[in-house]
Amino acid sequence: MKPRIALIAHDKKKDDMIALAAEYVDFLRGCTLSATGTTGGRLINELGLDVTRMHSGPVGGDLQIGAQLVEGEIDCVIFLRDPMTPQPHEPDINALVRACDVHNIPCATNLASAHLVLSQLQSKAD
Ligand code: PGA
Repeated sequence: MKPRIALIAHDKKKDDMIALAAEYVDFLRGCTLSATGTTGGRLINELGLDVTRMHSGPVGGDLQIGAQLVEGEIDCVIFLRDPMTPQPHEPDINALVRACDVHNIPCATNLASAHLVLSQLQSKAD
């Protein structure tokens, strides 16, 4: 089965997410992708990826990704969080990360861990 990957980036991390996804774009084209609204829009417009867009994070997108995950529909979460900026939807962020821990789903919350996770998934797909 194709890896099912959720991609989320806070505003100051969106450029990092685009650069990261560009680096793995061939691999990501073979994955089933979902993303929060704005992150997903950029992945579609700038990289031409096929992404199922949820609502924007602050209005429930993180919770939608969390619900997909709880239903067993997500294998991995790349969640580039901004630790320096208060987020209005902090409870939703915590809920998503907690759901990852409850369901033992890898959740990369920074670029270094995102590279480790994506390179591992990519090597398994080769
Ligand atoms: P966004 O949501 O991709 O719609 O900006 C991300 C977030 O802030 O959780």
